[in-house]
Amino acid sequence: MIPISTVRLGQEVEESVLSVIRSGIIAQGPVVARFEEEFASLTGARHAVAVNNGTTALVAALQTQNLEPGDEVVTSPFTFIATINAALEAGATVRFADVLEADFGLDPQAVDAQITDRTKVLMPVHLYGQSADMAPLAATASLHGVAIIEDAAQAHGATYSGQCVGTFGAAGCFSFYATKNLTTGEGGIITTNDDEIATTLRLLRNQGMRERYNYVLPGHNYRLTDLQAAVVLPQLAEYDQQLACRRRNAEGLSKRLKGLEGVTLPTQLPGRKHVWHQYTILLPDGVDRDSFIASLTQSDVGSGIYYPKPVYDYAAYREHPRVLVGSNPVAESIAKRCVSLPVHQYLEEHDLDIIAEAVRGALR
Ligand SMILES: *Cc1c(COP(=O)(O)O)cnc(C)c1O
Repeated sequence: MIPISTVRLGQEVEESVLSVIRSGIIAQGPVVARFEEEFASLTGARHAVAVNNGTTALVAALQTQNLEPGDEVVTSPFTFIATINAALEAGATVRFADVLEADFGLDPQAVDAQITDRTKVLMPVHLYGQSADMAPLAATASLHGVAIIEDAAQAHGATYSGQCVGTFGAAGCFSFYATKNLTTGEGGIITTNDDEIATTLRLLRNQGMRERYNYVLPGHNYRLTDLQAAVVLPQLAEYDQQLACRRRNAEGLSKRLKGLEGVTLPTQLPGRKHVWHQYTILLPDGVDRDSFIASLTQSDVGSGIYYPKPVYDYAAYREHPRVLVGSNPVAESIAKRCVSLPVHQYLEEHDLDIIAEAVRGALR
Protein backbone atom coordinates (compact mmCIF):
# COMPACT_ATOMS: atom_id res chain seq x y z
CA MET A 1 0.00 0.00 0.00
CA ILE A 2 1.22 3.52 -0.82
CA PRO A 3 0.00 5.48 2.21
CA ILE A 4 -1.47 9.00 1.98
CA SER A 5 1.00 10.04 4.68
CA THR A 6 3.82 8.41 6.52
CA VAL A 7 5.93 9.36 9.52
CA ARG A 8 9.59 8.35 9.44
CA LEU A 9 11.78 9.74 12.16
CA GLY A 10 15.39 8.63 11.90
CA GLN A 11 18.48 8.43 13.99
CA GLU A 12 18.97 12.20 14.18
CA VAL A 13 15.57 12.58 15.83
CA GLU A 14 16.35 9.72 18.22
CA GLU A 15 19.59 11.42 19.24
CA SER A 16 17.93 14.80 19.56
CA VAL A 17 15.23 13.41 21.88
CA LEU A 18 17.75 11.35 23.84
CA SER A 19 19.81 14.43 24.57
CA VAL A 20 16.70 16.13 26.01
CA ILE A 21 15.96 13.09 28.16
CA ARG A 22 19.53 13.13 29.42
CA SER A 23 19.49 16.88 30.06
CA GLY A 24 16.81 16.55 32.73
CA ILE A 25 14.83 19.48 31.27
CA ILE A 26 11.89 17.81 29.56
CA ALA A 27 9.12 20.44 29.76
CA GLN A 28 9.32 23.85 28.05
CA GLY A 29 12.95 24.94 28.04
CA PRO A 30 15.87 25.78 25.77
CA VAL A 31 14.91 23.38 22.97
CA VAL A 32 11.47 25.00 22.61
CA ALA A 33 13.24 28.37 22.50
CA ARG A 34 15.48 27.12 19.71
CA PHE A 35 12.48 25.79 17.80
CA GLU A 36 10.86 29.21 18.09
CA GLU A 37 13.97 30.96 16.80
CA GLU A 38 14.33 28.62 13.87
CA PHE A 39 10.68 28.82 12.91
CA ALA A 40 10.70 32.62 13.13
CA SER A 41 13.67 32.58 10.81
CA LEU A 42 11.98 30.13 8.40
CA THR A 43 8.91 32.37 8.09
CA GLY A 44 10.64 35.72 8.43
CA ALA A 45 8.36 36.56 11.36
CA ARG A 46 9.70 38.70 14.22
CA HIS A 47 8.38 36.26 16.82
CA ALA A 48 7.28 32.64 17.02
CA VAL A 49 5.55 31.34 20.14
CA ALA A 50 5.31 27.55 20.50
CA VAL A 51 2.19 25.97 21.97
CA ASN A 52 0.87 22.45 22.47
CA ASN A 53 -1.13 22.12 19.22
CA GLY A 54 -2.46 23.99 16.22
CA THR A 55 -5.94 24.39 17.66
CA THR A 56 -4.70 26.12 20.81
CA ALA A 57 -2.48 28.26 18.58
CA LEU A 58 -5.66 29.53 16.90
CA VAL A 59 -7.48 30.01 20.23
CA ALA A 60 -4.60 31.98 21.76
CA ALA A 61 -4.12 34.08 18.61
CA LEU A 62 -7.85 34.96 18.62
CA GLN A 63 -7.69 35.76 22.32
CA THR A 64 -5.12 38.49 21.66
CA GLN A 65 -7.89 40.36 19.80
CA ASN A 66 -10.04 41.12 22.88
CA LEU A 67 -13.24 39.77 21.36
CA GLU A 68 -16.54 40.80 22.96
CA PRO A 69 -19.71 38.69 22.79
CA GLY A 70 -21.22 39.16 19.33
CA ASP A 71 -17.91 39.94 17.66
CA GLU A 72 -17.52 38.08 14.41
CA VAL A 73 -14.82 36.06 12.70
CA VAL A 74 -15.08 35.49 8.95
CA THR A 75 -13.46 32.27 7.81
CA SER A 76 -13.56 29.44 5.29
CA PRO A 77 -16.17 26.69 5.41
CA PHE A 78 -13.79 24.35 3.57
CA THR A 79 -11.25 23.54 6.28
CA PHE A 80 -10.46 21.19 9.14
CA ILE A 81 -12.96 21.36 11.99
CA ALA A 82 -10.37 22.96 14.32
CA THR A 83 -10.79 26.30 12.53
CA ILE A 84 -14.41 26.67 13.62
CA ASN A 85 -13.86 25.02 17.02
CA ALA A 86 -11.08 27.48 17.86
CA ALA A 87 -13.21 30.48 16.89
CA LEU A 88 -16.09 29.23 19.06
CA GLU A 89 -13.71 28.45 21.95
CA ALA A 90 -12.43 32.04 21.76
CA GLY A 91 -16.02 33.27 22.12
CA ALA A 92 -16.47 34.54 18.57
CA THR A 93 -19.49 34.34 16.32
CA VAL A 94 -18.49 32.66 13.08
CA ARG A 95 -19.48 33.68 9.56
CA PHE A 96 -18.39 31.88 6.44
CA ALA A 97 -17.35 33.24 3.08
CA ASP A 98 -17.18 30.91 0.09
CA VAL A 99 -13.89 29.67 -1.37
CA LEU A 100 -12.26 29.66 -4.81
CA GLU A 101 -11.83 26.42 -6.71
CA ALA A 102 -8.44 27.67 -7.95
CA ASP A 103 -6.68 27.69 -4.56
CA PHE A 104 -9.31 26.26 -2.15
CA GLY A 105 -8.92 29.43 -0.07
CA LEU A 106 -11.29 32.29 0.75
CA ASP A 107 -12.80 34.15 -2.19
CA PRO A 108 -11.99 37.85 -1.57
CA GLN A 109 -15.31 38.98 -3.12
CA ALA A 110 -17.29 36.58 -0.96
CA VAL A 111 -15.41 37.88 2.09
CA ASP A 112 -16.42 41.44 1.25
CA ALA A 113 -20.06 40.41 1.36
CA GLN A 114 -19.69 38.84 4.83
CA ILE A 115 -18.07 41.80 6.59
CA THR A 116 -20.41 43.51 9.07
CA ASP A 117 -19.87 46.18 11.69
CA ARG A 118 -19.27 43.32 14.16
CA THR A 119 -16.45 41.73 12.15
CA LYS A 120 -13.22 41.76 14.17
CA VAL A 121 -11.13 39.05 12.55
CA LEU A 122 -10.60 37.64 9.08
CA MET A 123 -9.25 34.11 9.31
CA PRO A 124 -7.98 32.82 5.95
CA VAL A 125 -7.01 29.14 5.75
CA HIS A 126 -4.05 28.19 3.55
CA LEU A 127 -5.39 24.81 2.55
CA TYR A 128 -3.24 21.90 1.32
CA GLY A 129 -0.07 24.00 1.50
CA GLN A 130 -0.89 26.89 -0.82
CA SER A 131 -1.50 30.46 0.33
CA ALA A 132 -4.95 31.96 0.00
CA ASP A 133 -5.19 35.09 -2.19
CA MET A 134 -3.63 37.37 0.42
CA ALA A 135 -3.29 40.69 -1.46
CA PRO A 136 -7.04 41.31 -1.94
CA LEU A 137 -7.87 39.66 1.42
CA ALA A 138 -5.42 41.94 3.25
CA ALA A 139 -6.79 44.95 1.37
CA THR A 140 -10.35 44.11 2.46
CA ALA A 141 -9.25 43.57 6.06
CA SER A 142 -7.40 46.84 6.12
CA LEU A 143 -10.29 48.74 4.54
CA HIS A 144 -12.65 47.55 7.28
CA GLY A 145 -10.16 47.70 10.16
CA VAL A 146 -10.35 43.94 10.65
CA ALA A 147 -7.41 41.92 12.05
CA ILE A 148 -6.04 38.97 10.09
CA ILE A 149 -5.28 35.71 11.85
CA GLU A 150 -4.06 33.08 9.41
CA ASP A 151 -4.77 29.40 9.79
CA ALA A 152 -1.51 28.23 8.28
CA ALA A 153 -1.69 24.80 9.92
CA GLN A 154 -1.01 23.06 6.59
CA ALA A 155 1.32 25.58 4.99
CA HIS A 156 4.73 25.76 6.73
CA GLY A 157 6.94 27.91 4.51
CA ALA A 158 4.36 28.63 1.79
CA THR A 159 4.72 32.09 0.28
CA TYR A 160 2.62 34.70 -1.53
CA SER A 161 4.53 37.38 -3.46
CA GLY A 162 7.64 36.13 -1.71
CA GLN A 163 6.18 36.67 1.77
CA CYS A 164 5.65 33.69 4.07
CA VAL A 165 2.15 32.82 5.24
CA GLY A 166 1.72 33.60 8.90
CA THR A 167 3.16 37.11 8.49
CA PHE A 168 0.32 38.92 6.72
CA GLY A 169 -1.62 40.13 9.75
CA ALA A 170 -1.80 40.03 13.52
CA ALA A 171 -0.74 36.38 13.80
CA GLY A 172 -0.30 33.11 11.91
CA CYS A 173 -1.02 29.67 13.36
CA PHE A 174 0.78 26.47 12.43
CA SER A 175 0.24 22.85 13.46
CA PHE A 176 2.90 20.21 14.06
CA TYR A 177 0.51 17.27 14.30
CA ALA A 178 1.93 13.90 13.19
CA THR A 179 0.73 14.15 9.57
CA LYS A 180 1.68 17.77 8.86
CA ASN A 181 4.78 18.59 6.78
CA LEU A 182 6.71 19.20 10.01
CA THR A 183 5.80 17.39 13.21
CA THR A 184 6.31 17.24 16.95
CA GLY A 185 3.58 14.57 17.33
CA GLU A 186 1.27 17.24 18.73
CA GLY A 187 2.37 20.84 18.61
CA GLY A 188 1.71 24.33 17.34
CA ILE A 189 3.35 27.69 16.85
CA ILE A 190 2.09 31.23 16.42
CA THR A 191 4.04 33.72 14.34
CA THR A 192 3.64 37.46 14.72
CA ASN A 193 5.49 40.66 13.88
CA ASP A 194 3.82 42.49 16.78
CA ASP A 195 5.83 42.67 20.03
CA GLU A 196 2.77 43.21 22.18
CA ILE A 197 0.88 40.26 20.68
CA ALA A 198 3.94 38.06 21.21
CA THR A 199 4.09 39.06 24.86
CA THR A 200 0.38 38.34 25.34
CA LEU A 201 0.75 34.95 23.64
CA ARG A 202 3.59 34.00 25.98
CA LEU A 203 1.38 34.94 28.93
CA LEU A 204 -1.65 33.09 27.56
CA ARG A 205 0.22 29.83 27.07
CA ASN A 206 1.58 29.87 30.63
CA GLN A 207 -1.37 30.56 32.98
CA GLY A 208 -1.16 34.31 32.39
CA MET A 209 2.00 34.38 34.50
CA ARG A 210 4.56 37.16 33.98
CA GLU A 211 6.97 35.98 36.61
CA ARG A 212 6.44 33.48 39.38
CA TYR A 213 3.02 33.99 41.03
CA ASN A 214 2.38 37.22 39.17
CA TYR A 215 -0.73 36.41 37.11
CA VAL A 216 -1.69 39.27 34.82
CA LEU A 217 -4.48 37.68 32.78
CA PRO A 218 -6.51 34.48 32.83
CA GLY A 219 -4.40 32.08 30.82
CA HIS A 220 -4.00 28.43 29.93
CA ASN A 221 -1.46 25.67 30.01
CA TYR A 222 -0.70 25.58 26.28
CA ARG A 223 3.01 24.87 26.66
CA LEU A 224 5.00 22.66 24.30
CA THR A 225 7.75 20.46 25.76
CA ASP A 226 11.45 20.22 24.94
CA LEU A 227 10.86 16.51 24.28
CA GLN A 228 8.47 17.46 21.48
CA ALA A 229 10.55 20.34 20.12
CA ALA A 230 13.54 17.96 19.89
CA VAL A 231 11.58 15.87 17.38
CA VAL A 232 11.19 18.73 14.90
CA LEU A 233 14.66 20.33 14.92
CA PRO A 234 16.26 17.72 12.62
CA GLN A 235 13.22 17.98 10.30
CA LEU A 236 13.67 21.76 10.06
CA ALA A 237 17.27 21.26 8.98
CA GLU A 238 16.07 19.10 6.06
CA TYR A 239 12.87 20.91 5.23
CA ASP A 240 14.14 22.37 1.94
CA GLN A 241 14.88 18.87 0.65
CA GLN A 242 11.46 17.65 1.79
CA LEU A 243 9.77 20.47 -0.09
CA ALA A 244 11.81 19.76 -3.22
CA CYS A 245 10.60 16.12 -3.08
CA ARG A 246 6.97 17.13 -2.56
CA ARG A 247 7.20 19.56 -5.47
CA ARG A 248 8.80 16.98 -7.74
CA ASN A 249 6.08 14.48 -6.81
CA ALA A 250 3.29 16.99 -7.43
CA GLU A 251 4.75 17.86 -10.83
CA GLY A 252 5.21 14.18 -11.62
CA LEU A 253 1.60 13.42 -10.76
CA SER A 254 0.29 16.35 -12.79
CA LYS A 255 2.36 15.28 -15.79
CA ARG A 256 0.96 11.75 -15.57
CA LEU A 257 -2.65 12.78 -14.91
CA LYS A 258 -2.88 15.51 -17.53
CA GLY A 259 -5.82 15.36 -19.90
CA LEU A 260 -8.14 13.19 -17.78
CA GLU A 261 -11.58 14.31 -18.82
CA GLY A 262 -13.40 16.42 -16.24
CA VAL A 263 -10.73 15.94 -13.55
CA THR A 264 -9.34 19.15 -12.06
CA LEU A 265 -5.68 18.92 -11.03
CA PRO A 266 -4.20 21.16 -8.34
CA THR A 267 -1.92 23.97 -9.49
CA GLN A 268 0.57 26.33 -7.96
CA LEU A 269 -0.76 29.78 -8.84
CA PRO A 270 1.61 32.51 -10.15
CA GLY A 271 3.47 34.37 -7.40
CA ARG A 272 2.89 31.62 -4.83
CA LYS A 273 5.09 28.88 -3.43
CA HIS A 274 3.01 25.79 -2.70
CA VAL A 275 4.43 23.41 -0.06
CA TRP A 276 2.28 20.49 -1.26
CA HIS A 277 0.95 19.29 2.07
CA GLN A 278 -1.75 17.59 -0.01
CA TYR A 279 -2.19 16.94 -3.73
CA THR A 280 -5.94 17.21 -4.16
CA ILE A 281 -7.85 16.52 -7.34
CA LEU A 282 -11.51 17.24 -8.03
CA LEU A 283 -13.52 14.47 -9.66
CA PRO A 284 -16.02 15.19 -12.41
CA ASP A 285 -19.58 15.67 -11.21
CA GLY A 286 -20.99 12.28 -12.21
CA VAL A 287 -18.20 10.11 -10.70
CA ASP A 288 -19.08 8.23 -7.50
CA ARG A 289 -16.31 9.12 -5.06
CA ASP A 290 -16.74 6.08 -2.81
CA SER A 291 -16.29 3.69 -5.73
CA PHE A 292 -13.37 5.74 -7.01
CA ILE A 293 -11.63 5.44 -3.64
CA ALA A 294 -12.50 1.75 -3.33
CA SER A 295 -10.84 1.21 -6.69
CA LEU A 296 -7.69 3.11 -5.59
CA THR A 297 -7.58 0.95 -2.45
CA GLN A 298 -7.85 -2.16 -4.64
CA SER A 299 -4.76 -0.91 -6.46
CA ASP A 300 -2.94 -0.38 -3.13
CA VAL A 301 -3.05 3.40 -3.40
CA GLY A 302 -3.99 5.31 -0.26
CA SER A 303 -6.05 8.49 -0.47
CA GLY A 304 -7.90 10.92 1.76
CA ILE A 305 -10.94 13.16 1.71
CA TYR A 306 -10.06 16.54 3.14
CA TYR A 307 -12.85 17.46 3.75
CA PRO A 308 -16.10 15.61 3.04
CA LYS A 309 -18.43 18.46 4.08
CA PRO A 310 -18.24 22.16 4.86
CA VAL A 311 -17.44 22.52 8.59
CA TYR A 312 -20.85 23.99 9.45
CA ASP A 313 -22.67 20.95 8.11
CA TYR A 314 -22.65 18.88 11.32
CA ALA A 315 -25.33 18.59 13.98
CA ALA A 316 -23.09 20.32 16.54
CA TYR A 317 -23.12 23.54 14.52
CA ARG A 318 -26.42 23.53 12.64
CA GLU A 319 -28.41 25.08 15.50
CA HIS A 320 -25.45 26.80 17.10
CA PRO A 321 -26.35 30.41 17.96
CA ARG A 322 -22.83 31.61 17.11
CA VAL A 323 -22.54 29.88 13.75
CA LEU A 324 -24.05 31.92 10.91
CA VAL A 325 -24.26 30.13 7.60
CA GLY A 326 -25.04 31.69 4.25
CA SER A 327 -24.70 30.19 0.82
CA ASN A 328 -21.39 28.57 -0.15
CA PRO A 329 -21.95 26.75 -3.44
CA VAL A 330 -18.26 26.36 -4.30
CA ALA A 331 -17.36 24.86 -0.90
CA GLU A 332 -20.39 22.54 -1.10
CA SER A 333 -19.39 21.36 -4.55
CA ILE A 334 -15.68 20.77 -3.94
CA ALA A 335 -16.35 18.98 -0.64
CA LYS A 336 -18.28 16.39 -2.67
CA ARG A 337 -15.60 16.01 -5.37
CA CYS A 338 -12.22 16.28 -3.61
CA VAL A 339 -9.78 13.39 -3.26
CA SER A 340 -6.21 13.78 -2.02
CA LEU A 341 -3.50 11.51 -3.42
CA PRO A 342 -0.11 10.66 -1.86
CA VAL A 343 2.50 13.38 -2.56
CA HIS A 344 4.80 13.02 0.47
CA GLN A 345 8.58 12.97 0.39
CA TYR A 346 8.91 9.19 0.71
CA LEU A 347 7.37 8.40 -2.68
CA GLU A 348 9.56 6.91 -5.40
CA GLU A 349 9.28 7.71 -9.09
CA HIS A 350 7.76 4.25 -9.55
CA ASP A 351 5.03 5.06 -6.96
CA LEU A 352 3.94 8.01 -9.11
CA ASP A 353 3.36 5.60 -12.01
CA ILE A 354 1.31 3.31 -9.77
CA ILE A 355 -0.77 6.20 -8.39
CA ALA A 356 -1.46 7.66 -11.84
CA GLU A 357 -2.32 4.25 -13.29
CA ALA A 358 -4.68 3.58 -10.35
CA VAL A 359 -6.44 6.93 -10.88
CA ARG A 360 -6.88 6.25 -14.61
CA GLY A 361 -8.14 2.76 -13.87
CA ALA A 362 -10.60 4.00 -11.22
CA LEU A 363 -12.11 6.44 -13.73
CA ARG A 364 -12.48 3.86 -16.48
C1 LIG B 1 -4.29 20.41 11.55
C2 LIG B 1 -5.11 21.63 11.39
C3 LIG B 1 -5.49 22.43 12.49
C4 LIG B 1 -5.33 22.02 13.92
O1 LIG B 1 -4.10 21.62 14.30
P1 LIG B 1 -3.93 20.55 15.49
O2 LIG B 1 -2.47 20.60 15.73
O3 LIG B 1 -4.41 19.24 14.98
O4 LIG B 1 -4.70 21.03 16.65
C5 LIG B 1 -6.17 23.61 12.23
N1 LIG B 1 -6.49 23.99 10.98
C6 LIG B 1 -6.17 23.25 9.91
C7 LIG B 1 -6.54 23.74 8.56
C8 LIG B 1 -5.49 22.03 10.08
O5 LIG B 1 -5.19 21.30 9.01
